[in-house]
Amino acid sequence: MRPRRKRGRNPPLVARAEIGAKQSPCYTSRFAMRAKSRQETKPKRKASGLRMVAHAALPTRYGRFTIYGFQGRGPQEEAVALVRGSMNGKSTPLVRVHSQCLTGDVLTSMRCDCRAQLELSMKKIGQASSGILLYLPQEGRGIGLMNKLRAYELQDGGMDTVEANETLGFAADARDYNFSAQILKKLGATKIRLLSNNPEKVRQLESSGIRVIERVPCQPRVSKISRGYLKTKKRKMGHLLKGI
Ligand SMILES: [Zn+2]
Repeated sequence: MRPRRKRGRNPPLVARAEIGAKQSPCYTSRFAMRAKSRQETKPKRKASGLRMVAHAALPTRYGRFTIYGFQGRGPQEEAVALVRGSMNGKSTPLVRVHSQCLTGDVLTSMRCDCRAQLELSMKKIGQASSGILLYLPQEGRGIGLMNKLRAYELQDGGMDTVEANETLGFAADARDYNFSAQILKKLGATKIRLLSNNPEKVRQLESSGIRVIERVPCQPRVSKISRGYLKTKKRKMGHLLKGI
């Protein structure tokens, strides 16, 4: 990680020691070389645009976390991270990279499994010795809330989630995890266990310099209503789901 001293508006990372912002001693030499060559070949603006805005204590029903706010330069580059424990390399943090779903996370929709995955993740991270829940405003797998509702309307007419997104002119999954990887690096979590059913998420994080040493399934109990949606995610998007 590069120092940020030039950026005067950036408050000091007072919790650096706490969150282990230094590179983990568990880095393999192979990874260190990969990270270096990436820094040399990629333009610096993408990573240097990231700044930590604020952090505060956040007690939740799943335990006590520290919440960090991060901003990049792009309009969608804003996220919060709930951090538990220390990123000092002694234990490998359990990480969930969760995309916002207003209808599921807040309004308890059962069309999807987002809220159930969020709760399961917070429970598991709350029980781990260290972990991070990264919450990203990538509503509707990156297409935005209004377009997600348009896609729901098409699904009510008989399309599945992939067909609906594509009919609206979007990719089945428009999310990009480079910004997530930048945040994880800033927090010192370069080697992680990832709570996910999505192999594409693992692939993208790894190609952005995060070592995923284990994929931990994130599969809560499935409701009858979301079963069709999950079948499509498994069949068309390659998600690893058991019993669907
Ligand atoms: Zn959802």
